[in-house]
Amino acid sequence: TAALRFAGVSKRFKDGTVALAAADLTVAPGEFVSVVGPSGCGKSTLLRLASGLDDVTDGTVDVQSKSVGYVFQDATLLPWRSVRDNVRLLAELEGLPKAEREQRVAAAIELVGLAGFEKHLPHELSGGMRMRTSLARSMVLAPDVFLFDEPFGALDEITRERLNDELLRMFTQQRFAALFITHSVAEAVFMSSRVLVMTARPGRIKAEVGVPFAYP
Ligand code: ADP
Ligand code: ADP
Repeated sequence: TAALRFAGVSKRFKDGTVALAAADLTVAPGEFVSVVGPSGCGKSTLLRLASGLDDVTDGTVDVQSKSVGYVFQDATLLPWRSVRDNVRLLAELEGLPKAEREQRVAAAIELVGLAGFEKHLPHELSGGMRMRTSLARSMVLAPDVFLFDEPFGALDEITRERLNDELLRMFTQQRFAALFITHSVAEAVFMSSRVLVMTARPGRIKAEVGVPFAYP
């Protein structure tokens, strides 16, 4: 069964803007799918609907995961909280038992290469390290579905490429289903085995391109 499925999904905002029109989309468990398309074609809307942050106007969205990882372009960390306390946040909200929570937090920090930086505050870190913290935070509940909205897009190109490499390494270890938004076709092809191409006004999924791809 699909990890994430959209069937005939449309989104019309109150002002009449149709951001998504009759979108059909399936992401299998452990599949990494990229979405490309011009600004305003509905990519972020697609993710917000997948995450449940926003409601569909028509159609159905089905997500097979107890939690969903969501990574934004910016790290969106709480500035007064340390790396560890930022990563701990979702586990706290979820009410995990303390021992399990701390074990997961430590594992996530290790996974993103931030061991030793637990007590640092966001402003004491590089941009890349802040995004690593954001990644660790999203991984702490081990979601089966991940949504990436132009992750690392605020970073310089070299740091972004390095983090994309690391994200693929994490993906091969954890095998979540991923929907990955980017405005770079090259990045989409590099990251995924399937690329969805969207068009604007109204937002439609125009084409699907399979990419011959071997993960590391
Ligand atoms: P993308 O992420 O591809 O840039 P979005 O999903 O953010 O596109 O937006 C799709 C379309 O919906 C755009 O035309 C945008 O202006 C419009 N839109 C997004 N959010 C709202 C909103 N809350 N109200 C009205 N229109 C919106
Ligand atoms: P990244 O690409 O992960 O952001 P950078 O190129 O910014 O890494 O930094 C390279 C390395 O320098 C980091 O992995 C880290 O070990 C170290 N580093 C960067 N910023 C700091 C800092 N504020 N305090 C301590 N070490 C740092």
